[in-house]
Amino acid sequence: MKRRCTDLVGLLADFVEHQLSPEIHAELERHLTACPRCIAQLKTYESTVSLLRSIRDDDLPAELRCTLKSFVNRNCGN
Ligand SMILES: [Zn+2]
Repeated sequence: MKRRCTDLVGLLADFVEHQLSPEIHAELERHLTACPRCIAQLKTYESTVSLLRSIRDDDLPAELRCTLKSFVNRNCGN
């Protein structure tokens, strides 16, 4: 089954957290070796996650916190 980049980008969060099934994880890994665009997306995601982990919620203005979290979770309620 061939997936498009737009499909795979939605899986990057689960990929980073190792939440994907082994087959999908391997497929995404294969795709990433050949797709600079998705690698760039992955790096953006990873740096955002590590940024979120490196700062405490209290240190962030609410608006920025919401933006970052909605980028990661896509379910920010605010
Ligand atoms: Zn791609």
